[in-house]
Amino acid sequence: MRQSRLFTKTRREAPKDEVSKNAQLLIRAGYVHKEMAGVYSYLPLGLRTLAKIEAIIREEMDAIGGQEVRMATLHPSEPWKQTGAWDSVDVLFKLQSRTEKEYALGQSEEEIVTPIAAQYVQSYKDLPVAIYQIGQKYRDELRAKSGIMRGREFGMKDMYSFHETQQDFDRFYAAVKKAYFKIYERCGLVAKATEASGGAFSEKISYEFMVLTDAGEDDIVYCSSCDYCSNVEVAKEGEGELCPRCGKDHLKKAKAVEAGNVFDLGQKYPKAFNFTYKAEDGTDKHPIVGCYGIGTSRLMGTVVEVFADEKGIVWPASIAPFTVHLVELSGGNEDVKKEADELYSDLTAHGIEVLYDDRDVRAGEKFADSDLLGLPLRVVVSEKTLAAGKFECSHRAGGKTEFLSAAELLEHLRPPYA
Ligand code: ATP
Ligand code: MG
Repeated sequence: MRQSRLFTKTRREAPKDEVSKNAQLLIRAGYVHKEMAGVYSYLPLGLRTLAKIEAIIREEMDAIGGQEVRMATLHPSEPWKQTGAWDSVDVLFKLQSRTEKEYALGQSEEEIVTPIAAQYVQSYKDLPVAIYQIGQKYRDELRAKSGIMRGREFGMKDMYSFHETQQDFDRFYAAVKKAYFKIYERCGLVAKATEASGGAFSEKISYEFMVLTDAGEDDIVYCSSCDYCSNVEVAKEGEGELCPRCGKDHLKKAKAVEAGNVFDLGQKYPKAFNFTYKAEDGTDKHPIVGCYGIGTSRLMGTVVEVFADEKGIVWPASIAPFTVHLVELSGGNEDVKKEADELYSDLTAHGIEVLYDDRDVRAGEKFADSDLLGLPLRVVVSEKTLAAGKFECSHRAGGKTEFLSAAELLEHLRPPYA
């Protein structure tokens, strides 16, 4: 895409009331637009990154047998009243129509997915089934100071699975945990899984997937020698104590953000909706249910927090809005301009995603914007590179610079570029 055509521009200042680093940078770079505390619109660059995160999640959910749907977000109040959540879930946004009919905005969708599954699952032969969606959620959060990491409207992937036996549930639960680690890794992040009781949802074991960052709102203790990790709220062992799992190391304390979680919901929702299926032995049984969430916008904010430096955002290649930031410094030199235009055509013809800074602005401004936008590889075309016959290519992460011909550059960018 030609940057001269991009309707968003970078800006020097973020809104005064924006205290989080992720939102400050994303707003300054023109990725998102703040509507109010906890509510953001996604602009072309921001949407590209969000869509890439969603695509990674979709691939991994499909790979374990998830079936994608798009459920309503404007909900009737009846199912929420049926489970008691209408009164017990404090973050539920409730609306009233002109005729005083009551509605809820989706904050999680057990109340919607369970009746859908009940409609189609009649026999044990219809199980297991895993239904997921990627879309907007609404929560009346009291504190919304973490930018896109804690929204009142935010993106989430939520999946719900239904099983005949605890054994089959456990098999799928393990597959989801594995898929989650893969998703975080593909987004450039390292996540740790904490074991916790299911809180409001159930007494069963749940896992929270934590990413270490000072911008997180949770405190965890973890072991450097094994995968032990626990939320300080519930941990029996504290900082400095020996790891209860491997006994080799002393626990460290850190701030972290919950980037996802998985819950064993047992039979709570099928019971609430009287959802039974015909078991192999002819009896009517309630399926066992699991639910699995990942905050997509939170994940995007987390990546910004973890990798950004004093100059701006640093995207991992897998979720960058574009792979290459092609910057022409022609200063009116037509030969340089032509060379840059040709490289742009060449790279895009090879399927490489390029943001082409073809604007007529000073070099210093182009570099500052480029650093702020945070694309993985900057390729500069100037009189100097034209004379040398090689392009100046620098990596946003780490800052390494090398001079490459067009052929070498294409070789370098062969997928999977990372
Ligand atoms: P938290 O403790 O941070 O409020 P939660 O336990 O309420 O999270 P869930 O209800 O399990 O979270 O939602 C699933 C996932 O959705 C979370 O793991 C998180 O990644 C994301 N998420 C939850 N609340 C928000 C929010 N307000 N803004 C952005 N993402 C969120
Ligand atoms: Mg919450």
